[in-house]
Amino acid sequence: MTMPDRPSQRVAVCTGTFDPVHLGHLDIIQRGSMLFDELVVGVGPNPDKAPFFTAAERVELLKEVVRPLPNVRVEAFEGLAVQFVRSAGARIMLRGLRTLSDMEYEFSMSLMNLNLDPGLETIFLMAREEYSHVSSTLLRQIAQFGGDLSKFLPHSVRLALEQRTRELNK
Ligand code: ADP
Repeated sequence: MTMPDRPSQRVAVCTGTFDPVHLGHLDIIQRGSMLFDELVVGVGPNPDKAPFFTAAERVELLKEVVRPLPNVRVEAFEGLAVQFVRSAGARIMLRGLRTLSDMEYEFSMSLMNLNLDPGLETIFLMAREEYSHVSSTLLRQIAQFGGDLSKFLPHSVRLALEQRTRELNK
């Protein structure tokens, strides 16, 4: 059996909408940064709904919270995630898994991505228990009703979400 060349640097890409980034995302990013030489966080479009924060705002919020992690960089992308992974010089996609329902979706997604690009591998990290119920959608809803977000969001992101919610409610 001939083995493909092993890259000297292991680069992984973690894509998502990050609308906005929360502590569940940050946990996966932090743990990923320990596993790979470089981790690229790709901020992509959400084909299903208009985002709460613009791509530029989501990138800014992420850049601020990953600043302590020197091997993590953040970039926005348009189009297919597999193409972004390749353009970032990687062949590994890193994803977080929260629930069984995530598993079903992520399973089809990773098989589709493998079809689109057979050289690409998806690696999953299980969400930490305390964040396994956290999603950006839920946090936006909690913000709408003035709930306490401090357990789930970095300080700067909490302020930005509260501010944007106030603006939209005016
Ligand atoms: P997408 O819209 O592609 O699901 P998200 O912004 O929701 O993007 O999530 C980006 C990545 O972070 C995905 O791999 C997702 O599974 C993971 N993720 C989302 N929420 C959590 C969480 N609470 N704990 C761990 N991983 C999470």
